[in-house]
Amino acid sequence: MSNWQELESKYFLRTGRRLPVTLVRGQGTRVWDDEGKEYLDFIDGIAVCSLGHCHPVVVNAITEQARTLMHVSNLFYTVPQVQLAELPARNSCLQRAYFVNSGTEANEAAIKLARRYGKLHRDGAYEIISALNSFHGRSLAMVAATGQPKYQAPYTPLPEGFVNVPYNDVDAIKKATGKKTCGILLEPVEGEGGVIVPAPDYLKRVRAWCDKHNILLILDEVQTGIGRTGSLFAYQRMGAEPDIMTLAKGMGGGFPIGAVLAKERAAVFQPGDHGSTFGGNPLATATAYAVVKHIIEQRIPERAREMGEYLLAGLRKLKAKYPRITDARGMGLLTAIEFDAPLAEAVTLAALREGLIVNNVRPDALRLAPALTVSREEIDQALAVLDKVIKAVAAQPVPPAPAH
Ligand code: PLP
Repeated sequence: MSNWQELESKYFLRTGRRLPVTLVRGQGTRVWDDEGKEYLDFIDGIAVCSLGHCHPVVVNAITEQARTLMHVSNLFYTVPQVQLAELPARNSCLQRAYFVNSGTEANEAAIKLARRYGKLHRDGAYEIISALNSFHGRSLAMVAATGQPKYQAPYTPLPEGFVNVPYNDVDAIKKATGKKTCGILLEPVEGEGGVIVPAPDYLKRVRAWCDKHNILLILDEVQTGIGRTGSLFAYQRMGAEPDIMTLAKGMGGGFPIGAVLAKERAAVFQPGDHGSTFGGNPLATATAYAVVKHIIEQRIPERAREMGEYLLAGLRKLKAKYPRITDARGMGLLTAIEFDAPLAEAVTLAALREGLIVNNVRPDALRLAPALTVSREEIDQALAVLDKVIKAVAAQPVPPAPAH
């Protein structure tokens, strides 16, 4: 058998660290490595394979569309793209959709739309207020929007027009708002930042501020959307409608696709203002159409809410048992536990050895985001592994905090 990890170190342009496992197959909530070891996957491709690995709905949609028509360009109308666009229009507060290939691209398109709106309806305003500890993607503009110095510092100078303020702080948004502000970009829950759930009235208050000043509220639901947080979109549980919303991750059930959605009043692109070669091609949109339709019809968000509550209750029990766990939090099946020290990597590696995949989203925080189809039994299994490894890791001396 090839040593894939050695070959990778020779040929791959490295941008991040990997766990020491080569995955070759997946089915439901399980994946297998190249030595045949089985893992319970509680990170789900980072909240992507919403129906689990290789779900028949996803596989059949890809197979059928691949045989029919994969790509023709956006010079033409294509049927799956229009079908997919109709789903959010019928199931959210946003009437118009444009499709791209990733969350980053969706956010780029959202910012361009907001700037277009600023030019037309707010005296040329172009500035976007976004949050510290957020994550919006890795393009230069999205790094500027992402309020995390570790992602920004290596790439300065960054595009101008972004102001980062503390999350969950409406007054900070108010103070940062000026004549140049055209939009406020927020995650309903900060996912990469460590699953930070804001105060229940946070988005409502930001919404009211936006209404008062004719500013667009842009919600980045790349991680929280498509059922992950226990409703089709997180904003529906938070009582504040966005003017623009972005999606990706879970939307294609594993197939790459992103979307920017807009209310009619914010849908100000004119022909020629934006475009993408691959964005919304028949293969991607047919797959996402099948996935999102299945999620809506089978009421999977409700299931995710129920399973999420069950998982969170289990995490809270662990917190009660281990003083080193200082917090257990989440919304739907986007959950985390926080430690009093940088223990998350050690727990992740120990869990991996025990056949459970979780994610050290921060040095001191562990993220769990299994497929929306996860069962109670699988949650029980994952909690049992965590119990075992946290017991062992918590008994060890605390490792030093990593550089970042
Ligand atoms: N926005 C949020 C909230 C995300 O969590 C992510 C990825 O983790 C992105 C944007 C970037 O998406 P992508 O990696 O598909 O470009």
